[in-house]
Amino acid sequence: MDADAIKRCLEGSGLRCTPQRYAVMAFLMECNRHPTAAEIFAAVNRVDPRSSRATTYNNLRDLVRAGLVREVAVEGRAARFDAKGTRHHHFICDRCGNVEDLEWFDVPRPASGSLGKRLLRECELIFRGLCTKCAVRDAKRGRRDCKNGKTGMDS
Ligand SMILES: [Zn+2]
Ligand SMILES: [Zn+2]
Repeated sequence: MDADAIKRCLEGSGLRCTPQRYAVMAFLMECNRHPTAAEIFAAVNRVDPRSSRATTYNNLRDLVRAGLVREVAVEGRAARFDAKGTRHHHFICDRCGNVEDLEWFDVPRPASGSLGKRLLRECELIFRGLCTKCAVRDAKRGRRDCKNGKTGMDS
């Protein structure tokens, strides 16, 4: 996405396109790793050392509120952020905390009766387990432990 598109995207959501806000958005759009707020600050700060941590975090919060950035909560770890415009689900690795995108498919919505007066905005899924890297490592260790008569569960 080019600079003009990011500017239009911000202004279309009622946000002023300040240099710091632009920097946060631009970094998130080219980053596929779902960075934490601290990683976003580090990246923005490398480009423009004048931007403070507070400004970066405030901008991030504004972008989440405006619906341009998605916050992915990872229990026990720092939240991760994602500015990918298309809908997708997430897979979170129990072991390394890696957050990966999974292709979108429709998920059943709760019966309207169970929602009461709540207004539903989005239904998305979080899958949990082991990412490819950790699963491979696990399988290797499992084989070795089997030879030693262990189950592979006691690491
Ligand atoms: Zn992993
Ligand atoms: Zn994502």
